[in-house]
Amino acid sequence: MYDHEEYRVMRRQHLTKIVATLGPSTSGHDEIEALFMAGADVFRLNFSHGTHEEHKARYDAIRAIENKTGRPIAVMMDLQGPKLRIGTFGDGPITLAAGDKFRLDLDETKGDQSRVTLPHPEIFQALSTNATLLLDDGRILLRVAECGADYADCVVEIGGPLSERKGVNVPDVLLPLSPLTPKDKADLAFGLELGADWVALSFVQRPEDVAEAQALIEGRASIIAKLEKPAAIEKLDEIVALSDAVMVARGDLGVEMPPEDVPVLQREIVRACRKQGRPVVVATQMLDSMIERPVPTRAEASDVATAVYDGADAVMLSAETAAGAFPVESVEMMNRIIERVQVDPLYRQMIETRRTEPDETTADAISAAARQIGETLNTSGIVTYTTSGSTTLRIARERPMVPIISLTPRTDTARKMALVWGVHSARTPDAHDFDDMINTATHQAKIDGFAEPGERVVITAGVPFGTPGKTNLIRIARVGGGS
Ligand code: PEP
Repeated sequence: MYDHEEYRVMRRQHLTKIVATLGPSTSGHDEIEALFMAGADVFRLNFSHGTHEEHKARYDAIRAIENKTGRPIAVMMDLQGPKLRIGTFGDGPITLAAGDKFRLDLDETKGDQSRVTLPHPEIFQALSTNATLLLDDGRILLRVAECGADYADCVVEIGGPLSERKGVNVPDVLLPLSPLTPKDKADLAFGLELGADWVALSFVQRPEDVAEAQALIEGRASIIAKLEKPAAIEKLDEIVALSDAVMVARGDLGVEMPPEDVPVLQREIVRACRKQGRPVVVATQMLDSMIERPVPTRAEASDVATAVYDGADAVMLSAETAAGAFPVESVEMMNRIIERVQVDPLYRQMIETRRTEPDETTADAISAAARQIGETLNTSGIVTYTTSGSTTLRIARERPMVPIISLTPRTDTARKMALVWGVHSARTPDAHDFDDMINTATHQAKIDGFAEPGERVVITAGVPFGTPGKTNLIRIARVGGGS
């Protein structure tokens, strides 16, 4: 593994990473490989859709591409979470008009113009008069006039057509729901067995939701908390601290919050994550029009650029790559936007202005110093030895101007780091002494296209070698001329 000559120098230029969701448009090995070659670093398997067999086939294709190219690839499994949905209608879709009365209840009979089932008893317990209910991605707005343990009588404030199984959002209420439904638990067991690197948790409301998932996952994968509920924003710092990474899930966030709040929250979340050194993914509708057209709107290009200027670790494509007509073009476009922003002098300036102070830890002192040395000497890279990836994350938090080359003996760590800003990840054996540390680091920097013979790299590592959590040294080393 990781030694295929043809792909040796597969050095990405983009610092902000690209997450591509797989789906019907991108199921086969060749389609997925085309996305990877276009610049996708992480593949998302969306468990809201598709069968386990389909996810397994895509997973196997990703690992085959990894073997072929010699580059670690991260797989993110995205759990559906407790998505609320209404039941069915007896006579097909209905149309609600502003001012109509409409009841949601636990009655299992098919719905009509006056009522429909909402099969979630816990919701009725949490509702109160005047609460807002949003149906069909916010297209229909109901206000609760009266409610009890098994019903809510509502008045329609914004009407429209309503068909069966449409989603329901309850923005103002902290819902007594576990973030993991029985379906999520079955999907999680399957995805972990498969080897997913990141697990994205939908509809996180409180820090306890992340803890509940952690207890089930038991370190077999890292957790991405999807922030899409107003309640989660109120506990932002705590949720960021508990999670391994965060996603700004603007689809549902934009249903539960007014549109003008979404860009403000996006910045707040990105800032909170950068401060704590947690990778942050900006997601949903980034190049939405490319689902049907080969070029994005100017507004979409600008939206991707904004996330890049803000220093997000990754930007994500959903239906553009999963179900669109131009999946490869979407990744290529994202790549072009990222690379264009990176050469804008204002980009560096913005990244530097928002750099956060190191914490009072050895790892942060080393990371800040490594950045400083790398930038002062304009080295070809900062090579970081890591076991769990935590040192690499602290160096990435510094957003250095020189490339980060992350070396680890662990395949899972090598893969996970594919999500992180500016990190080129590779799997190498642990160093066993100083000479070995320098030889491996400089050799990897050279063969992966970062350094020419005679150039310098900064190396961070921990002594005793191979002890996790022990980063305590910096070396400057010159790349040798041999192979
Ligand atoms: C979102 O809501 O923005 C999101 C990423 O989640 P999903 O695609 O699962 O709705």
